[in-house]
Amino acid sequence: MEMSPFLGGEEMSEKKEIDDRFKKFGTVSFTSVTKVNDFIDFLEKGKVMGTRCQDCGMVFFPPRADCYHCLSRNVEWFEVSGKGKLVSYSKLQYAPVGFEGDLPYSIALVDYGDYKIFGRLAGDIPDDEVKLGMEMKTVVNKLPNGQLNYVFEKA
Ligand SMILES: [Zn+2]
Repeated sequence: MEMSPFLGGEEMSEKKEIDDRFKKFGTVSFTSVTKVNDFIDFLEKGKVMGTRCQDCGMVFFPPRADCYHCLSRNVEWFEVSGKGKLVSYSKLQYAPVGFEGDLPYSIALVDYGDYKIFGRLAGDIPDDEVKLGMEMKTVVNKLPNGQLNYVFEKA
């Protein structure tokens, strides 16, 4: 069984038809079927979205359809907007299978205050301009093969 950071302990038996919108995400798709497929529709509209539990307030990115904190399914979408701060980054010389063609690229963690987002830096930021603490924004990125993901740009 394929595991994905976007899967949140959901039971697939609930859905009869195959909802495979997630196959459009990223260089290599981890999964094509999840309850958070709306994430892809939002990307196509230029929005990077996470989810927030309406019962306990926990914020999830990658988005989850179920809250692992209070086990509620009462989650809502919110847009990742505004500026975050770069808190960690690492330039990769080796990449996971399927991502070799993207090298070199930098993975990074951006802190938005009540949540953090893991992703990669936009490829056009010169290395010497990347500084911890710099303000960044999360934007939708279209890959050459037509797939979608998100990257961090200078804010
Ligand atoms: Zn909750």
